[in-house]
Amino acid sequence: MDSTAGPLNQLISDALVVIAPHVPRDLTWPILLLTAGLATTIWLLRKGVGAKGADGRIRRMPLRQFLLPAEIYTHVSARVDVGLYVFERLLRPLWVTTLLVGVAPGTEALVMDALNALLDSGPGLQSHYGWMLLYSLVTLLLYDLLFFLIHYAEHKIPVLWAIHKVHHSAEVLTPLTRYREHFLEGPIYAIGAALSFGIAAGLFGWLFSDSIAQATLFNIGFFALLFGFNGSFRHYHVAFHYPRWLSKWLHSPVMHHTHHSYLEHHWDTNLAAVTSIWDRAFGTLYIPERDEYTPWGLGPASQGEYRSFWQNVSGPFRDWSAMIKRKASSSAGLHE
Ligand SMILES: [Zn+2]
Ligand SMILES: [Zn+2]
Repeated sequence: MDSTAGPLNQLISDALVVIAPHVPRDLTWPILLLTAGLATTIWLLRKGVGAKGADGRIRRMPLRQFLLPAEIYTHVSARVDVGLYVFERLLRPLWVTTLLVGVAPGTEALVMDALNALLDSGPGLQSHYGWMLLYSLVTLLLYDLLFFLIHYAEHKIPVLWAIHKVHHSAEVLTPLTRYREHFLEGPIYAIGAALSFGIAAGLFGWLFSDSIAQATLFNIGFFALLFGFNGSFRHYHVAFHYPRWLSKWLHSPVMHHTHHSYLEHHWDTNLAAVTSIWDRAFGTLYIPERDEYTPWGLGPASQGEYRSFWQNVSGPFRDWSAMIKRKASSSAGLHE
């Protein structure tokens, strides 16, 4: 294959080598083992309490059931997760390529040009590990902000909620639920990620005389590691709480349990991906009490329309056509 790769392919594969360590991955063996290890610790410390059943209620369980409960992993929702995960994996290379060759470098160039025009050439700083950490942190905060804004819009705007509903139609949570999303949602978040990477790269590219790289730990992007762990555990049925003070800065995994709850006081809360900063700033932070009841899914009224794989794939189109029909009939009503 190498002999037929032209400069464009070379460019993409070079970019992949650089960016791959910073793309968060939840479903790696080390992260899953870490999740199981921490869950076992919770089981030991709380004497068998701390995992939720398919109904979203905490109860005491023997270890095997605590870690891998049959009622969750044989649930129709968990089986649909697998189908949607495979679908998402097949389409993901498309979004990643668009992100790498299109939006991210374009945004980076725009930001650098704008800064050069406004403030003249940058201060020409020299890079060291502290700066690299800061670069990673700024990228993470920007990523989290873009994630928050997109997610907020998806919860508040009906046309977008029709797409995001598929993630919320999960009636039980498994690490695969992280990837349970409609195929139209992938590109939306990919654009958000590309914009945040591009803005941070443009800013740091302008500040430093040579190029600067993000900090890594064991060759993995420092914050991609944090994100990967959090993404996996927050869709696990074990309630992992952080101390309250820490929850004000970082989302604990259990804070996403409430995000998936259909109880009205849990709606539209904890919308960011990693930190609590943006939810705190926009008033959507919700730190649950210990053992708080969180029934997952869309709720009894509409869950029946989002059970099978095809119901979920066709969901947004059904909702949109209903919206168009409603609009047409209401405007027809006005002319009568
Ligand atoms: Zn959501
Ligand atoms: Zn989720």
